[in-house]
Amino acid sequence: MAQAKIRLYLEQPLAAGQPLPLNEGQAHYLFAVMRLAAGAQVLVFNGRQGEWLAEVVQVAKRAGTLRALAQTAPQRDPPDLWLMFAPIKKARTDFIVEKAAELGAARIMPVQTDFTNAERIRQDRLQAHAVEAAEQCGGTFVPVVAELAPLARALDGWNPARRILWADESRLGPAATLAGLAPGPWAVLIGPEGGFSAPERARLGALPFVTPVSLGPRILRADTAACATLTLWQASLGDWR
Ligand code: SAM
Repeated sequence: MAQAKIRLYLEQPLAAGQPLPLNEGQAHYLFAVMRLAAGAQVLVFNGRQGEWLAEVVQVAKRAGTLRALAQTAPQRDPPDLWLMFAPIKKARTDFIVEKAAELGAARIMPVQTDFTNAERIRQDRLQAHAVEAAEQCGGTFVPVVAELAPLARALDGWNPARRILWADESRLGPAATLAGLAPGPWAVLIGPEGGFSAPERARLGALPFVTPVSLGPRILRADTAACATLTLWQASLGDWR
């Protein structure tokens, strides 16, 4: 049996024998880019039902069909960890979304802070980056990328049962240890190039569900800070333990 290496995210339900119609982009990728022919095998997942082996049953220029054969891995959801970050330059924002999906964030929330330069994001493009990251890292879960929302509004409606790990650049010094913090729902918060404003800092500092942390003695770029904080959380409270 040929080894199936390509992994493809699909939205359809997966079950043995289930036909899986492809959209134009998926057909282009499988048949024009990867040059698959009828009978070739691929791995597919839909974010809910694990990973499945599937075979190509119909090839067309802008369409085609796979058929699901058997489940190859169970569904594995990440811990209940969200990433809230202020969008920065396009390539670096793309990087943050890709790495957050690889590192096991369950939801990705771009937030507009006082010093955020970006006024809009391409949510569909960022969501596609999250899908691609899940395809490449062997994951069976794809985090939702939310629309850009003001940080103040997110905090207004915040459920205090979800704690916020606030990467606070004013705490330069020994890096945080999360020992003693309770597992459970958390969100990591990363600021933009300009950091957090004084009013944001005052508000965050007064919220009982917010825990400020230092990421060591150097100022990190926001993309580095996002990866570092997710890593710290995953190693201390998440599924890397
Ligand atoms: N312009 C800010 C300054 O000079 O203080 C730095 C902002 S930094 C480039 C972007 C974000 O990364 C910060 O808002 C913070 O969330 C996080 N960050 C970077 N370095 C950090 C550190 N050493 N400790 C905690 N958070 C850090």
